[in-house]
Amino acid sequence: MRPQILYPLFAPVTSLAGVGPRLKKLYERLAGGSVVGLLWHLPSGLIDRRYAPKIRDAQEGKIATLTLWIDGHEPPGNPRLPYRVRCRDETGFLFLVFFHARADYLEKVLPVGAERVVSGRLERFRDRLQITHPDHIGTLAELESLKRVEPVYPLTAGLTLKMVGKTVRAALARAPELPEWIDPAYHARQGWADWHASLMKAHAPESEADLDHSTKPRARLAYDELFANQLAVALVRAHQRRLAGRPLKGDGRLRAKALAALPFALTRSQEAAVRDILADMAGETRMLRLLQGDVGSGKTIVAFLTLLNAVEAGAQGVLMAPTEILARQHFQTMAPLAQAAGVRLALLTGRDKGKPREVVLAGLKDGSIEIAIGTHALFQEEVAFKNIAIAVVDEQHRFGVHQRLLLASKGRVVDMLVMTATPIPRTLMLAAYGDMDVSCLIEKPAGRKPIDTRTLPLQRLEEVITALRRALDKVAKIYWVCPLVEESEAIDLAAATERYHQLSGIFPGLVGLVHGRLKGSEKDKVMEAFQRGPLRILVATTVIEVGVDVPEASVMVIEHAERFGLAQLHQLRGRIGRGQTASTCLLLYATPLGETARARLAILRETDDGFRIAEEDFRLRGPGEILGTRQSGLPDFRLADLAAHQELLAAARDDARLALERDPELKSPRGHAIRTLLYLFERDAAIKYLRSG
Ligand code: ADP
Ligand code: MG
Repeated sequence: MRPQILYPLFAPVTSLAGVGPRLKKLYERLAGGSVVGLLWHLPSGLIDRRYAPKIRDAQEGKIATLTLWIDGHEPPGNPRLPYRVRCRDETGFLFLVFFHARADYLEKVLPVGAERVVSGRLERFRDRLQITHPDHIGTLAELESLKRVEPVYPLTAGLTLKMVGKTVRAALARAPELPEWIDPAYHARQGWADWHASLMKAHAPESEADLDHSTKPRARLAYDELFANQLAVALVRAHQRRLAGRPLKGDGRLRAKALAALPFALTRSQEAAVRDILADMAGETRMLRLLQGDVGSGKTIVAFLTLLNAVEAGAQGVLMAPTEILARQHFQTMAPLAQAAGVRLALLTGRDKGKPREVVLAGLKDGSIEIAIGTHALFQEEVAFKNIAIAVVDEQHRFGVHQRLLLASKGRVVDMLVMTATPIPRTLMLAAYGDMDVSCLIEKPAGRKPIDTRTLPLQRLEEVITALRRALDKVAKIYWVCPLVEESEAIDLAAATERYHQLSGIFPGLVGLVHGRLKGSEKDKVMEAFQRGPLRILVATTVIEVGVDVPEASVMVIEHAERFGLAQLHQLRGRIGRGQTASTCLLLYATPLGETARARLAILRETDDGFRIAEEDFRLRGPGEILGTRQSGLPDFRLADLAAHQELLAAARDDARLALERDPELKSPRGHAIRTLLYLFERDAAIKYLRSG
């Protein structure tokens, strides 16, 4: 249960003064539904009102707080002109300027003959010093409280800085003093203040430098968030380890047959990955290994050998793919190998219904089907296995944590191999999985020709089409990718359809179209016709992004390449360059090209090293977008910036591990403080993995 001391922070935002039902939605969008989110809403800038010159010395352009006598009001003769209030001090005079003013209000707050404190930006208009719409008007008694530095918060439409500032202050007033959860020695070494003081300081910047990630208050808060994350990850991992593993040790007879049927030899990294995996599977603890390998690096065969090892040991295995197309493709790749090995393989996706589905379900249940390939349909309630021991999850980043947990809950799936083609920067991996074991396929299979990547403005589309005509004499298959932006699927689909019709008109009978809205069976038909049949050009939305393998395809055209992320473009491009012919990738962009988009396209021209591309992507876009935070199961950090706080993350990991080693049930005083931290960062779910709740 959440500790009582945190209750005020987990009250809804509407419990704060001034936040009614109307503003609730806006605050939810800005910082989340409860008070605690506002604590994490740190300033992005500041306004310094400490500058308090005399009028004679006042510098235009600066924000100043001035003490003034009110001389007189000058209402405009014409409502389109501003209302002016003339003010002075002993060195000169200036005007306060108001558009669409309410005279009665101004007469009340700026009475003639009175002394007032006014703060705002100084301007000069026709030789006169003025302040248009001062931010603050107060009495002399309020001078000191107005002469301060105000934090500037990120806003959302409908909320002004004044409103957000006030609401954040109200939220901060609720922040309690909390016991220290950071390791005392580390805390002392960093020279950090306690949580409460750090929070207050982070919200009260005095200079631009105080807004930096590296300042002590901000670093401490980031550390807290990372520490909570790493504790949660460590708790889940410890829980997984406690569940008994199950040693699986095949004798290699099936693997030998499959390898003999392969038209190629494994690369060195494929061999090393298989070795790692076999060792994990033979061990007493559960395997949780990530197989990372760039597109085309040959993960599929590694997966298949992994599955065969389980079958040799008398168990079943499954391979789960994120899309129907991919599941089918894996099935097609593996079927001949399975046949060579004498293993029964079945496909199960959401689309398989009726009698065939029942046959597969029965086979999985009685064990006659040894390997199943499918989509998440494999993990529906009614799918029962006789003896399932391992799950391989392809293109992991497409599945959320939820599915991962569901998978683990399928009882005896003890070993898990997840495969991804998006090389995940080390930092991200640590944050998402903690200390997951990793194998990397670093070299590409032999004989790959480099891809010639070129960028062209979209205006040259006609030229590209003309070039295709020539290319079709030499090139077997061509991909033509049209972007799909989620917000307007219909519009994008229309663009792809239009391109399809245009190209069909030019190349009759040779062009196919696939997109996400197509029914599964239709999709397969088109893919099949492109893979083996008469189609030479495949117009596609990004449904082809993941995994599709058509080695004869050696040209790819990507329209509106500037709309894609770097990793995504790299993935797409990975569809070509798999066969014997040299390949070309044409990235067509709309002008003018933004700076980031330009940088992205330049990197793609320069390299096809997926790891380098991933690091650059990380740098250009920040972590959240790389994998799509929600899809990846990657935590959404509010305070930590994974690019800036890498060292803190490593320290948090070590501290989390040590803290749980010393006090696995979090019973000590520091253990209780750590529990509070976990609740503070809403890692409640991890707490239930403590050995005793
Ligand atoms: P990915 O890692 O993107 O899933 P795949 O497993 O689909 O890559 O492999 C890409 C292509 O490379 C396939 O056509 C596969 O048959 C081929 N391939 C895999 N391993 C090797 C190898 N060691 N030598 C030659 N070709 C290979
Ligand atoms: Mg693949």
